Amino acid sequence: MVVVGAGPAGLCAALEAAQAGVRALVLDENERGGGQLHKQIHRFFGSRHHGAGKRGFEIARELMEDCARAGVEVRLSSAVLGCFRTGELLVDGPQGVYVLRPRATVIATGASEKSFPFPGWTLPGVMGAGAAQTLVNLHGVLPGRRVLMVGAGNVGLIVAYQLLQAGAEVVGVVEAEGEVSGYEVHLQRVRREGVPVYLRHRLLAAEGGEGVEAALVESLDDGGVKRFRVDALCLAVGLAPQAELAAMRGCRISYAGELGGFLPWHDRDMRTSAPGVYVAGDAAGVEEASVAMDEGRLAAVSAAEDLGVLDAAEAAAIKSALLARLEGLRGGPSARSKRAAKARLCSG
Ligand SMILES: Cc1cc2nc3c(=O)[nH]c(=O)nc-3n(C[C@H](O)[C@H](O)[C@H](O)COP(=O)(O)OP(=O)(O)OC[C@H]3O[C@@H](n4cnc5c(N)ncnc54)[C@H](O)[C@@H]3O)c2cc1C
Repeated sequence: MVVVGAGPAGLCAALEAAQAGVRALVLDENERGGGQLHKQIHRFFGSRHHGAGKRGFEIARELMEDCARAGVEVRLSSAVLGCFRTGELLVDGPQGVYVLRPRATVIATGASEKSFPFPGWTLPGVMGAGAAQTLVNLHGVLPGRRVLMVGAGNVGLIVAYQLLQAGAEVVGVVEAEGEVSGYEVHLQRVRREGVPVYLRHRLLAAEGGEGVEAALVESLDDGGVKRFRVDALCLAVGLAPQAELAAMRGCRISYAGELGGFLPWHDRDMRTSAPGVYVAGDAAGVEEASVAMDEGRLAAVSAAEDLGVLDAAEAAAIKSALLARLEGLRGGPSARSKRAAKARLCSG
């Protein structure tokens, strides 16, 4: 089995496969394993099965160590360029370009940041919040000294706080909705540092010459316009599943706005419409790392069953435990719309 993506979904898929007796190879274009986790310095939520209370990069390190112990090969700096209808994968790795012919493929490629066009959006200093987080947490570089964050979901709030910790001044968090969608604990941290959160406001434009120098923000209630002097403008306006490889492979693509937009259709057990191809994690709908881990495990059990390594009864027993855990993870009020969207997708 080949797993594309060494994030929590891909690594857990490979671990579960190894446990079932399937030989698994994980490929990731990044030079480090762990996907999004390796740049997360905050403590994660979830249950003890998913590393709750640990920092993201610690969970990433533990999953990579578990893979090494289980005999899973993880090839880093290895981008999957193509996933063909023949079932072949085209890989560009340190040894050059080569083709793999796996009997099962798990697509666990995660998600990419969304953006939107506005006057000045191509100015240097305008960037995704995830890009700002990579600069700060991985490279030790501040994206700017005075930053405006657009979007008050978890990503916007967490990255705003991490920018503050790194010494930037966050002049505000702007949110078009009338309420914050991120967790209260992240909101309170930002508020305690004196950062104003502007609800029902929208970004109008970025101004500047060589780089961004100001951001214009409009109140949706009275139309008043505020001008913020900034040298970085971060967009945290959502994530979209990376479905390109699945689309190239010929998997049916569906749409679920609550899960980030277009994504590979899959059944409850993470099988796509293409035989031998499975999907897991944010690539199967943007949720959280804990969900990604259990979806990865579920995909691997389905693959092991289809490969004849697990019999139907063994597979059903493992799956029912994983599905019950997923139900619990999606039980909270903030996950309700995602749970409903998943149920609609899987039954369609
Ligand atoms: C700022 C922020 C804070 C978060 N905080 C939390 C939290 O507190 N708790 C929580 O549960 N979740 C949190 N999350 C969400 C969590 O990080 C993601 O849901 C999770 O990482 C998704 O896992 P994944 O394995 O599906 O994808 P990712 O972690 O994105 O991994 C995908 C991997 O696929 C690789 N890849 C993609 N395309 C290719 C290709 N063509 N070839 C080779 N490799 C490829 C990428 O390099 C990447 O390593 C947070 C996310 C962000 C951005």
